[in-house]
Amino acid sequence: MQVTSRRYIAMFAATTLSIASIAMAQGAETPKLILQITVDQLRGDLPQRFLDRMGGGGFRYLLDQGVVFKDAHHAHANTETIVGHATLATGAHPAQHGMVGNVWFDHGRGRLVYNIEDERYPLLSADADVNKSTEIDPTQKKAKVSGRSPANILVSTFSDELALHTAGRAKIFGVSVKDRGAVTMAGHAGKAFWFSKASGEFVTSRFYYERYPEWVAAWNATRPAERYADKSWKLLHKRDTYLYGEKDDQAWEVDFPGYGRVFPHAFGAGDGKYFTTLLTLSPVGDALTLDFTKSLIENESIGEDDVTDYLAVSFSSTDYVGHFFGPSSLEMEDNLLRLDHTLAALLEFVDDRIGLNRTLVVLSADHGSPEAPGYLNEMGIEAKYVDPKQWDKQAGMAALKQRFGIGEELIQTYFHPYLYLNQDVLREQGLDVSEVQTAVAAELSKFEGVALAVPGTAIVKGQVPDTALTRRILNNHNIKRSGDIFIVFESHYFINDFDGLTVASAHGSPWRYDTYVPVIFAGCGLKPQKVYRPVQTVDVATTLAAWIGTKPPSGASGQVLGEVVDQRACATVCVE
Ligand SMILES: [Zn+2]
Repeated sequence: MQVTSRRYIAMFAATTLSIASIAMAQGAETPKLILQITVDQLRGDLPQRFLDRMGGGGFRYLLDQGVVFKDAHHAHANTETIVGHATLATGAHPAQHGMVGNVWFDHGRGRLVYNIEDERYPLLSADADVNKSTEIDPTQKKAKVSGRSPANILVSTFSDELALHTAGRAKIFGVSVKDRGAVTMAGHAGKAFWFSKASGEFVTSRFYYERYPEWVAAWNATRPAERYADKSWKLLHKRDTYLYGEKDDQAWEVDFPGYGRVFPHAFGAGDGKYFTTLLTLSPVGDALTLDFTKSLIENESIGEDDVTDYLAVSFSSTDYVGHFFGPSSLEMEDNLLRLDHTLAALLEFVDDRIGLNRTLVVLSADHGSPEAPGYLNEMGIEAKYVDPKQWDKQAGMAALKQRFGIGEELIQTYFHPYLYLNQDVLREQGLDVSEVQTAVAAELSKFEGVALAVPGTAIVKGQVPDTALTRRILNNHNIKRSGDIFIVFESHYFINDFDGLTVASAHGSPWRYDTYVPVIFAGCGLKPQKVYRPVQTVDVATTLAAWIGTKPPSGASGQVLGEVVDQRACATVCVE
């Protein structure tokens, strides 16, 4: 049967019409910007804790207007910065994304490596070299290689998928004080900027740029950090309005020379050895991050065209303040009140330029936070610092020697949480790896403070009991990078000595206080909702992918959060 030309034209017109309307519908549902905020060490209960003194635009906006997941946890055991950021970025567990710790032992190189080190891509500012930095971040001190890139992240990030989906038209950026907080979120396809304590600037590496964009050079040329020379971190409000107003001086807080345990905390002279480091140990680190981010949004025209852009901002001050003073301290209380202002200012800026109704905001954290043992003890709760250097290893070594003919030589190194066996020695001696792992783990389990020592081979073979803790260890186990034995301390026990720096609290365990984080989606017409079913941080990237319609990141094992994506249709109406 022949189709008349009129009918053909009518059919053609109908087809074009429906395609056009689909495009319109997609346009309305597609945000101009995905703003992914990560707060380093923001335990799940902390935003709510001081809400009574917070304004309307920051945490209160997110908690009151957003879809708030009240029982969100990381599902991996080593709750460190790189691990959590990479999990939020990829929707994969560390077993798949490969970022199993801030530092791991690389058998090929015969040394500890820093997660995003990459000697092929030096930083653009020579004076930002990490080896010139007066770094007191213990994991950074391990970083002898100055270059940085995302090459060690073994799977795609959501931001990578967005780049692929839009033929590279999406603008993708990650910003943080910490290099690992920026590089992870920008993924392989985006651009990352972070703060160099050595040079006091926001820097990047040759992986991303041959030279700084003009606006970055101009921002750095104003020397924003130097504005804080000879200034100090003071309380935002009257002391008696704080929950911890009477508890400024707590015995377990770090008494860093010149900075001290009580307000005001002085930053010292602009050319002081620790000046920039102290800025990051206060809300100033977040203020600088915000200022740089605003400049980025303006100069890179973020959210201005119809293609969805992606901007990740990771605020690091909460982590440094937590390590030095603990999560229950006057410093943390003031820091969170100031972070609330910082978040409000960022959201207001985005609202003015792009519109929060066209921006999908998601906030989470890379890990939670343990209370300082001294604070727990005051409440009658058993808690202790662990010092593996004090372990009496003699009996254990003798037992190993009796069984295998050698003792100490079996151990390559112990960088918590992993103990690494010496693979060369095992090979030369013809020893069975699994057998040695099990024997060493049995000896480790006897030390005070060790709750569990889990052999790697046994866990991948399913030979250890399936419990909440061991499942998190399995999720953390990457065959190539993870050590031979994963050590878990008792709840409320942790190492607080990092190469001579004694801190108040240190996260990194698989216990609930370290896995517990906020997950909040807001903006884009979302209606408020509180969700109490358990969700995991791997769900975040999967949900972003589902909202935009990209394929899931390559290693993602998260589930789509229905409470968010089911509102997509509503979001269309709200936006229009
Ligand atoms: Zn930390």
